[in-house]
Amino acid sequence: MSRPAKPETILVVTATERLSPTMIRVSFRSEDLSAFSSSLFTDRYVKLVFPQKDDDPVVRTYTALNPSVADGTLDIDFVVHGTEGYAGPWAAAAKPGDTLAARGPGGAYSPAPEADWHLIAGDETALPAIRAALAALPADARGYAVIDIPAPGHEQPLDHPDGVEVTWLVTGGHTHHAAEDAEGHEQPLVTAIRDLKWLDGRVHAFVHGEAAVTMHGIRPYLLKERGVPKADVSISGYWRRGRTEETFRDWKRELAEAESA
Ligand SMILES: Cc1cc2nc3c(=O)[nH]c(=O)nc-3n(C[C@H](O)[C@H](O)[C@H](O)COP(=O)(O)OP(=O)(O)OC[C@H]3O[C@@H](n4cnc5c(N)ncnc54)[C@H](O)[C@@H]3O)c2cc1C
Repeated sequence: MSRPAKPETILVVTATERLSPTMIRVSFRSEDLSAFSSSLFTDRYVKLVFPQKDDDPVVRTYTALNPSVADGTLDIDFVVHGTEGYAGPWAAAAKPGDTLAARGPGGAYSPAPEADWHLIAGDETALPAIRAALAALPADARGYAVIDIPAPGHEQPLDHPDGVEVTWLVTGGHTHHAAEDAEGHEQPLVTAIRDLKWLDGRVHAFVHGEAAVTMHGIRPYLLKERGVPKADVSISGYWRRGRTEETFRDWKRELAEAESA
C-alpha cells in the first residue's frame, strides 16, 4: 500500500447512523479534503489519530467512503466490536461536533476494467471497501462478492452489477472460531471461497479482513493452488483477532520476515 501523506486534516462529526447491529456510519466534514483529489483507489483509507492524555496518540486505520473534495465530506463505517480498543468504542459514542485528526489517504486497489471476472471478499471491516469496489464495477462485470457477517440481520443494501453474485455468509462472529483455526484454514470464509465455481479468464481479487483468515487461509489458495499472479490479488489482514493494531503490526512484520527467509 502507498504510504499516506503526513499532513493531518481535522474531521468534524456531522451525523451518525446505525447500519447494522455491529456497524455505525459516522459522517464527517473537513475544511480541506484536497488530499483526496488524486485518490482513485476504491480501498482508500485514512489513519485516524486518537489523542491520549499522558501518552503518544493512538493511530487506527479506516476506509474513507464517499469522499467529496468539493463538499468537504466523507463517511467512515466502523465495526463496533465491544468495549476493547479505541476506534470501535469512539464510534459507538460519537456525536455531532466531535473531532478527530486524520492522515492520508493511502490505497492500493480499484477493480481492473480489463479483468474477466472479480472475486471480492472479506468481513465487516472490509465491507466499506467492498461497497466502494462494487459501486465502481462496470454494469457488465461478472464475479462474486462474499461478505462474512456475525449473524442474520447484519446484511446491508449494496449496489452491484447483476453479474456479480453477492453472498452474505453468516459465520457466528470471529470470536466463536477460536484457536482450532488460528491459522485460518477452517474458517467459513475460506471454505466459501474454495467452494465458488472458478470462472474462466483473468480474475482480479480483493480479499481483506481478519488476518489469519485472509493471509493463511485464502492467500495460499489464490496464489498457490489457483496460480493467480500476485499483481492480480489485493489481499491483506485488516485486523488480527486478539491483537491491537500496534501488536498486529508486529505480526505482519514477522510474517513478512518468515516469508522472505
Ligand atoms: C486499510 C485498512 C482499512 C480498514 N478499514 C476499516 C473500516 O472501514 N471499518 C472498520 O471497522 N475497520 C477497518 N479496518 C480495521 C480496523 O483498523 C481494526 O479493526 C482496528 O484494530 C480497530 O481498532 P480499535 O481501536 O477499535 O481496536 P484495537 O485497539 O486495535 O484492538 C482491541 C481488541 O479488539 C479486537 N478487534 C479489533 N478489530 C476488531 C473487529 N473488527 N472485530 C472483532 N474484534 C476486533 C483486537 O483483536 C483486540 O483484541 C481497516 C484496517 C485497515 C488496515
